[in-house]
This record gives sequence, C-alpha cells and structure tokens, in this order.
Amino acid sequence: MTARIIDGRIVAGTVRAAVAARVAALGFQPGLAVVLVGEDPASAVYVRNKDRAAAAAGIAAQTVRLPADVGEAALLAEVARLNADPSVDGILVQLPLPSGIDPQRVVAAIDPGKDVDGFHPLNVGALAAGQPGLVPCTPLGVMRLLEAVGVRIAGARAVVLGRSAIVGRPMAALLLAADATVTVAHSRTRDLPAECRRAEILVAAVGRPELVRGDWIAPGAVVIDVGINRGADKRLVGDVAFAEAAAVAGAITPVPGGVGPMTIACLLENTVTAAVRRRR
Ligand code: NAP
Repeated sequence: MTARIIDGRIVAGTVRAAVAARVAALGFQPGLAVVLVGEDPASAVYVRNKDRAAAAAGIAAQTVRLPADVGEAALLAEVARLNADPSVDGILVQLPLPSGIDPQRVVAAIDPGKDVDGFHPLNVGALAAGQPGLVPCTPLGVMRLLEAVGVRIAGARAVVLGRSAIVGRPMAALLLAADATVTVAHSRTRDLPAECRRAEILVAAVGRPELVRGDWIAPGAVVIDVGINRGADKRLVGDVAFAEAAAVAGAITPVPGGVGPMTIACLLENTVTAAVRRRR
C-alpha cells in the first residue's frame, strides 16, 4: 500500500480562505497582537509569517517588540494594555520567553477571551471539561487535517504520542471530544510500538527524529506527524520515518508541509472566533 499524502499547505490554504471569507462578512476588522520579547531569530521569522498571513486574511496584526531585558512586570503591563484595548481580539505572547520571566504567569495574565494560543488555564480547563473555549492552534490544525481527509473520528482508536501541554494533551482532549477512543503514550509507556500498532489514527508529537517506524503502524492507519526535528544530516524530519510509514499507512502528513502550515492558519481561525465571541 502507498499512503495518500495529506498536503497541509493545501488544507491550510482552505482554512485561511475560509477565515478571509468570515472576516469579509463581519463588518469589522479583527485585531491580533503578537508580543515578541528579545531577538530569538526563529521566533522573529515565525512572527513575520504570522503578520503576513493575518494581513492576507484581512486581520489587523500588530507586533509588539520588547527587549530581552524587559522584565516580567513591564511585560505584564503590556499584556494588561492589550487586554484593555478594544481593537485587539487576539493576544499571543511568543514563547519561549527569556529566563527570569515566568511564562505561566504571563499566559495567565492574558484575557482568556483573547487567548488565541489556548494556553490560559481557563481555556485548558474548558477543553478538559469538554466546554467551549479557545483551543491550541497545532492540535486544532491536526483536527482540520483529519476532517480534510474525511477520516471517521467517532469510535476510532486514536493514539497520541506525547503529552505536552501545547500538543499532546490538548490533542487527546480534542480527539476525545470528537468521540475517538484515545490512548496517550509517552516516555514511560511500555511497548510503544504495540500501542501505536493499535491506532487507526496515530498522532506523533514527541520531538524525536523518525522514532516511529513503519512496523509500528497498522495497515491503512491515518498518521499525523507533528514533529519538526533536524535529522543527522540537518534535513528537516518528523517524528515518523516517512518512507517506511507511507508504505503501510492509509494516509500520512509529510514534514515539512503537513501540520506546520496548519498552526498559523488555525491561529487566524482562533482570532476570528475570539473576535466574534467578544462582540456577542
Ligand atoms: P515536548 O514538550 O518535548 O513533549 C514531548 C513529549 O513526547 C513528552 O510528553 C515526552 O514524554 C514524549 N516523548 C519524548 N521522547 C519520547 C520517547 N522516546 N518515547 C515516547 N515518548 C517520548 O514537545 P512538544 O512541544 O509537544 O513538541 C513535540 C514535537 O512537535 C516537536 O518536534 C516540536 O518541534 C513539534 N511541534 C510542531 C508544531 C507545528 O506547528 N507543527 C507545533 C508545536 C510543536 P514525557 O512527558 O514522558 O517526557
């Protein structure tokens, strides 16, 4: 079998077009503020891409740049200013933050209704309780990819590899909310290959280059690879050994070009969702 390749660029384009259409019908321009502390080059590139994507969707994006030595109190004051600004519907503080600033305190200071990353404890709790809230962008992007493939999630056996707060845990909660039977595996799981082989939907988010081998995958399974890693030869690779897995799976995302493009698309979707809810 050769798996169908799930093209995240195409699906992300569809999500972004849908966001642009929603924005055009709103009658007001949603606003997104991204706070960038320090000069981390990877974060700067990511923030620039967010700005461009937001502008293309008709969202007013602003980047608040603060020096690395800004200090927690000044950063919290900036978050408070954005919370109070009625033209700002979404606030995202780019992580990681410089040492000396507690990211949990900063995230908890964001108005939960503007928390487009979905990291605020209230949004985390809402997702865990199966209530509406803002959902982290990468797992939301995975759900959009699964919808695009047309896979039946209700009743399916899903295995999520990884239990981080930003990917694994919210991913498992979203799959559970969509009525999958969910197993969460992690570094202490006994016999990882056997757990993975039970999956009809396998989401890998471990950050270990090509950990998941072809013989870990059930024939016909849908494999979503969230991992972004540099391989030994500096090539970008996922958490799944792509060629091996593609020979067994029914559908699979590549790296790059799979989950990656979905994160920004879902950030835009969350911004519009937040804007609409705030004005209700
Ligand atoms: P993380 O915080 O490091 O969490 C990794 C998880 O994987 C942990 O739960 C860990 O288990 C588990 N794990 C690590 N090694 C393992 C092993 N050998 N066997 C089984 N489980 C193992 O990473 P993350 O932030 O969730 O990110 C995961 C990957 O996704 C990274 O490659 C990251 O770059 C990528 N990512 C991509 C996007 C995107 O937009 N596409 C967004 C976010 C992250 P324990 O809990 O037991 O330690």
